[in-house]
Amino acid sequence: MSDARRRLPAVSTLLEYEGVRALHTAAPREVIADAVRRSIETARRDPAVGPDSETAWVAAVTAEVDRALERSLRPVINATGVVLHTNLGRAPVAARAIAAAQAVAFGYSNLEYDLAAGSRGSRHGHCARILCELTGAEDAFVVNNCAAALVLALNTLADGREVIISRGELVEIGGSFRVPSIMNKSGATLVEVGTTNRTHLADYQQAIGPRTGAIASVHRSNFVIEGFVASVMPSALAPVAAAAGVPLVHDFGSGLMLDLAAWGLRGEPTASDAVRAGASVVLMSGDKLLGGPQSGIVLGTRAVVGAMRDNPLARALRVDKFTLAALEATLELYRDPAAAVQDIPVLRMLTMPTVAVTARADALCAQLKGRGIDCDVVATEATVGGGAFPASRIPSSAVRLLGGQAGEYDRRLRGGRTPVIGRTVDGHLLLDLRSVTESVDELLCSSVAQALNR
Ligand SMILES: *Cc1c(COP(=O)(O)O)cnc(C)c1O
Repeated sequence: MSDARRRLPAVSTLLEYEGVRALHTAAPREVIADAVRRSIETARRDPAVGPDSETAWVAAVTAEVDRALERSLRPVINATGVVLHTNLGRAPVAARAIAAAQAVAFGYSNLEYDLAAGSRGSRHGHCARILCELTGAEDAFVVNNCAAALVLALNTLADGREVIISRGELVEIGGSFRVPSIMNKSGATLVEVGTTNRTHLADYQQAIGPRTGAIASVHRSNFVIEGFVASVMPSALAPVAAAAGVPLVHDFGSGLMLDLAAWGLRGEPTASDAVRAGASVVLMSGDKLLGGPQSGIVLGTRAVVGAMRDNPLARALRVDKFTLAALEATLELYRDPAAAVQDIPVLRMLTMPTVAVTARADALCAQLKGRGIDCDVVATEATVGGGAFPASRIPSSAVRLLGGQAGEYDRRLRGGRTPVIGRTVDGHLLLDLRSVTESVDELLCSSVAQALNR
């Protein structure tokens, strides 16, 4: 054993250091003892860089304790300029949605209890009334996410049978969501029709046969194709499906509940449009443009929605009470579109006037400069993200960090107490204010200053 190793302090010695004893107010004894053992272990592996004073040992143990207590899932600040960022948890939810979830979390609820009858009820009934009211659907229910809704719809309608789908819609929507892979898991066999760029009504008509369980129409959420293209809208497909007695499943995705054309966001159908188009069942996400919690919303005819609820698979895909509470409270805001745009964070961020975003960037820049951080404000283009309005660019403003390496700034901001995620453009790290909820502007400032030691 080398001299350096022999000089390592004992666990009991470190535990007696004043600075280590002080940690007891913040951490349980076992966590501190583990941190002490890990610190010694680390120093044993590389004695040359190990702590060499009481202060240094206390710092090492404190860092180990911090690491041990750090939560896996933590709030971050999304300064990427992508409002619906799937990696960053998609939609932040409205304050009243959080309050509603908190209220049912705090105690018991009528999750599966029929208060009028005084007996067992069904969780699948929650949110149905308001979803029908807002979209014009005959019936509705909620599952874990849109992918789950698609599997459930196809398993209910076409298990062991065929599903007809256009080759132009066999797409990948997120890192782990390939429409064909998910659809195959439902037990249905895919029958592909048309070509990547062109599919016609006749292609569907020719494919309908005795083994057809359903026709599927999947919204091309995250890309646009242009040029020599043709596709069949659900509204044109619906009468053909109805004439053949085959259900039409429309995976609509975004969950847009309001027309945002007044704010320059055009070309996406709303949920009401999708219901009106006449599919037997429309499926969408709760945490994209709807701006609610992660969920898969099923809107459709009484017969199809009822059959999906009765499918044993619905039990495996069910949502919890927090989700239902938060979703219902979010949906309530849509009864007054002005309130929805004001209070649903996603809509508020997407519709905020660019001058207001720029004013926030200016304020942040001035505060950071006051703390000695070199930066300026630049005009940017933000995006909706989350597979909606793929071609739309929203004018925005960002604080650009200067006088250092973008990679180093990025690493330090990600490593802070409240991590800040920006985006690098032309060698500079940008903090785009369009995707930052206003309520965290102050926190953004202090987090950046702290991460850069100012
Ligand atoms: C986003 C999306 C999905 C997946 O939704 P999740 O809620 O993430 O499961 C499915 N289909 C379409 C068309 C989408 O846009």
